[in-house]
Amino acid sequence: MAKVEILVLGAVRPATREALERDFICHDANEPADVETIAAEAGDRIRGIARGGHFHADKALLARFPRLEIFANFGVGYDGIDLDYCAGKGIVVTNTPDVLTEEVADTALGLLLTTVRELSAAEQYLRAGRWETEGAYPLTKATLRNRTVGILGLGRIGMAIARRLDAMQVPVVYHSRREKADAGYRYYGDLKAMLEAIDTLVIVVPGTAETTNLIDADMLKALGPDGIVINVGRGTVIDEPALIEALASRTIQAAGLDVFAREPHVPEALIALDNVVLFPHLGSASHHTRDAMGKLMVDNLKGWFENGKPLTPVPETPVPAKG
Ligand code: NDP
Repeated sequence: MAKVEILVLGAVRPATREALERDFICHDANEPADVETIAAEAGDRIRGIARGGHFHADKALLARFPRLEIFANFGVGYDGIDLDYCAGKGIVVTNTPDVLTEEVADTALGLLLTTVRELSAAEQYLRAGRWETEGAYPLTKATLRNRTVGILGLGRIGMAIARRLDAMQVPVVYHSRREKADAGYRYYGDLKAMLEAIDTLVIVVPGTAETTNLIDADMLKALGPDGIVINVGRGTVIDEPALIEALASRTIQAAGLDVFAREPHVPEALIALDNVVLFPHLGSASHHTRDAMGKLMVDNLKGWFENGKPLTPVPETPVPAKG
């Protein structure tokens, strides 16, 4: 059988590339201009897309490939893909859940501890020679002891974070749109009520229209002056200017961020603050986990083209019967 032609959006890891090339003819687009060139040359032959990097897959891009059947995303979050267009055209969108859950939960805990106990600032203090000249690093105002963590989005990663916090004897509560009956944690149907009851917010919801700016100035005020915000979900979930203002005015105590509204841009005003820890979106960023994600992305493409059964389709784009 002739190999199916696919568009590869953005860079993929070497093992992923090898796996893609075994089964597909790959057209690589690293810049938006490449998409135009490929569309002009092979637009009507391309039947699948593998998205490795941060390409915005809007209707204009997708419509250049009229025979598109599947959009395989590298990552569990699939924001930046026009899902309505895909659903309307019967294009299946797949993501890479589960294989990254524990890695991202590890990162979230690392970010939480770094923020609460100022671990990054303390290390910089040592490296600057200040331990020897000025004495011990100041005691941290914050501690995980006596804190209650509210998880916004108790899904796969949220649960993995909660399990880690259980082991650390930190109480956990949560908010999501629906209660998870078997979760074993107190549920708040009202986000603001949860923020008023806790002091530490861990955000791990997807970036959707509904979650955009969910955490605004009002919500940050509800969290209060001991409040610490950790975000490993998506940058769009927080109103970034409102967060900067809340950190600068000490409306909240501190924040730890792995994700930002306009990555890779991080506002200067955020970088200038001393009560925020900033990670360059590295939640799943290990060789091990990125290879596992790449394998699942390729297996989704193979599953669809070989037997009409992608492994992990997203709920918004039901898998059509293969004709
Ligand atoms: P899941 O789908 O398992 O969990 C998402 C959770 O968010 C669910 O509990 C869902 O519950 C809740 N949720 C969704 N929409 C809303 C809403 N509008 N209001 C309140 N709660 C909501 O996904 P994962 O745990 O696998 O991944 C979560 C997200 O983490 C990804 O979408 C991605 O954005 C981010 N992520 C970040 C990474 C990083 O490197 N920093 C790496 C991997 C993922 P319910 O439906 O009941 O509302």
